[in-house]
Amino acid sequence: YRAKREKSGFAVFEAQLNQQAQLRLQLASDLREALREPGANLELHYQPQVRLHDGQVVGAEALVRWRHPHLGMVSPAQFIPVAEDTGMIVPLGTWVMEEACRQAVAWAAAGHGAMRVAVNVSALQFARPDFVDTVSATLRATGLEAGRLEVELTESAVMEDVKESVERMERLRALGVSVAVDDFGTGYSSLSYLQRLPLNVLKIDRTFIQNLGVNATSRSVVQAIVGLAQHLNLECVAEGVETPDEREALIEVGCRYAQGFFFAKPLPAPALLEWLSQADGAR
Ligand code: C2E
Ligand code: MG
Ligand code: MG
Ligand code: MG
Repeated sequence: YRAKREKSGFAVFEAQLNQQAQLRLQLASDLREALREPGANLELHYQPQVRLHDGQVVGAEALVRWRHPHLGMVSPAQFIPVAEDTGMIVPLGTWVMEEACRQAVAWAAAGHGAMRVAVNVSALQFARPDFVDTVSATLRATGLEAGRLEVELTESAVMEDVKESVERMERLRALGVSVAVDDFGTGYSSLSYLQRLPLNVLKIDRTFIQNLGVNATSRSVVQAIVGLAQHLNLECVAEGVETPDEREALIEVGCRYAQGFFFAKPLPAPALLEWLSQADGAR
């Protein structure tokens, strides 16, 4: 009986693997289809970023969503890896950048002209020799002021070729675009490199924020990251703030900015505008 059970356990395992591979293949082919008309199939949601001491909204991070014809909303955690493996991340990323910049221009028209938009850029996209030119062309085409765009890079994207990355980041900054390192603390960047990178912002990964209100160790880790950022003259944004305790603890350790479900979930563009007008009313 046991042998039989083990065998069937393995068969189940194998079937699951197979199913996963199948799903990825299916997603890849559906994504190729979706990208023929990205505006009809993809959509950006925006998560507000607030200044902690007074709640002022300073910007929003653009997070892509895919309205799949059969699967419904597919999470970027599922399809970004597929897009990266297949190279589709490049056209996808270009569309995201354009759409986010267009949206930020619309915010200005609605009276939120000081808000920045933060756009996630994957390693493959950043490594393209024409990346900075594409950003610059997008700014020109949409009319967005460069100072209102922030590019979010992961540590691994930057560390792939540090010399090239530094050059590229300097060109972005020369345009007036600011550069953030996303999910800080989860990658493998060494501290000696960090001081060589022309960065503006460190985004503290959500894993360090969880339990911040109750756990003394988390608190000293976050305090250390905030101190590091201060020494390097970088702004700090805490990701994934979910509770008032976490917010309080961040204020106490001197972190100035945050985003997370406690303030707002990522919202479709019209809902963001509504949320912003309510936030204005509350002040
Ligand atoms: P990320 O850039 O680190 O974005 C933060 C993620 O945390 C988002 O997940 C957001 O919805 C989620 N989040 C925000 N606040 C909270 C919170 O308080 N609690 C919890 N539990 N989660 C929170 P999302 O939208 O599913 O995106 C996942 C990842 O997919 C992003 O992580 C980013 O790496 C990637 N991604 C999203 N959009 C794009 C894009 O346009 N281009 C690229 N290259 N990657 C993207
Ligand atoms: Mg991000
Ligand atoms: Mg992040
Ligand atoms: Mg992340």
